Amino acid sequence: MNEPDCLFCKFATGKIPVNFVYETEHVLAFRDINPQAPSHILIIPRRHIATINEIEDSDAELVGMLVTAARDIAKQEGTDTAGFRVTMNCNKAAGQSVFHVHLHLLGGRKFAWPPG
Ligand code: 5GP
Ligand code: ZN
Repeated sequence: MNEPDCLFCKFATGKIPVNFVYETEHVLAFRDINPQAPSHILIIPRRHIATINEIEDSDAELVGMLVTAARDIAKQEGTDTAGFRVTMNCNKAAGQSVFHVHLHLLGGRKFAWPPG
């Protein structure tokens, strides 16, 4: 199911063209338009889920696919050995700005901890 007003659904349905760096039956990934690291990829389910709060127990396999995609894309990007960061922001206080769940895969530089 897709939301007509959701930007990432428009990417998923091809309504807005975007170059995918990774594509499976259930998962897509593309470069962030405003990268926060030399390699900054967004990994999304094709199906619309607004935030982590709306993830159902039955979505566990799909959510796992976001992480296995991150593993594969990090290898593709050459960031797997040095290290990379995976982030999911949920709702406003965490800085979520697009309400279709996505995993940020960041690599190619050193990251601070704790995050800002
Ligand atoms: P959030 O802030 O919701 O965790 O992450 C949303 C991300 O989507 C941001 O990092 C932002 O730069 C990215 N983004 C917003 N609009 C577009 C767009 O039109 N194309 C791409 N590729 N990324 C976008
Ligand atoms: Zn959506």
